Amino acid sequence: MSAALVTGASRGIGRGIALALAKAGFDVVVNYASNLGAAEDTAAEIEKLGVRAALVRADVGDAEDRARLVDEAHEALGALDLLVNNAGVAPKVRADLLEATEESFDRLVGINLKGPYFLTQQVARRMIEHGTPGKIVTISSMSAYTASVNRGDYCVTKAGLGMMTKLFAARLAEHGITVFEVRPGIIATDMTSAVQEKYDKLILTDGITPIRRWGTPEDVGRAVVAIATDLLPFSTGQVIDVDGGFHLR
Ligand code: NDP
Repeated sequence: MSAALVTGASRGIGRGIALALAKAGFDVVVNYASNLGAAEDTAAEIEKLGVRAALVRADVGDAEDRARLVDEAHEALGALDLLVNNAGVAPKVRADLLEATEESFDRLVGINLKGPYFLTQQVARRMIEHGTPGKIVTISSMSAYTASVNRGDYCVTKAGLGMMTKLFAARLAEHGITVFEVRPGIIATDMTSAVQEKYDKLILTDGITPIRRWGTPEDVGRAVVAIATDLLPFSTGQVIDVDGGFHLR
């Protein structure tokens, strides 16, 4: 049985990834920040699929929480075969570059970039220790390459994940560990619900997403399963866009 740790798996894309992995036969550690009810619901759905689920509350932006998350994940499921760095936050308020605050920048860097960077480091060390030819997948965004000047802090964290992926791919290849970046397009989740009407028009009428539909957490989950189940055995350091063609524009 293979084991995966998915950060931010209580809701949205993380939940979709966790369920897709469970369908593919993975036991899953469901990490969440505060929403215990949603995390329990995801875990119950995973167990209905006949695999194990373990819940760990931890803020990926906090060093002590990250260390405990890695320890508890291994205690619950043993050696991990897969880490999915999915947890991420958008700025609480969009602010023009010339008005943006250090407080928002520090929060986003801590959760969206520093969290995945050091979780990858810690999980990779365990994979090497256990001799596991594991996989690490990080969820970035099309904001990694679009210059949205009213949420620059979000964009720089997502762009940083691209270099992080290349760095760890280069460092870990000799251990048989492969590392990928998955860039979702516009996906229907709580993060995008506030702008649903605006995006309905952009996607369905204007074709900002050429496949002219909202993406789903399951779309992203399927891409992660392809990586996790070794359908890309001779690839590493790659980016996979799951965006209905958004990047073509
Ligand atoms: P949601 O806001 O719907 O869900 C966020 C998830 O992350 C929840 O499970 C939440 O836990 C968890 N989380 C938030 N902060 C932390 C933290 N500090 N530590 C641990 N877990 C945390 O987001 P999405 O599903 O939309 O986004 C998931 C990822 O995909 C993010 O990295 C986002 O940037 C990226 N993305 C999203 C896109 C979209 O269109 N939705 C597009 C491109 C990328 P809890 O339930 O406890 O709050």
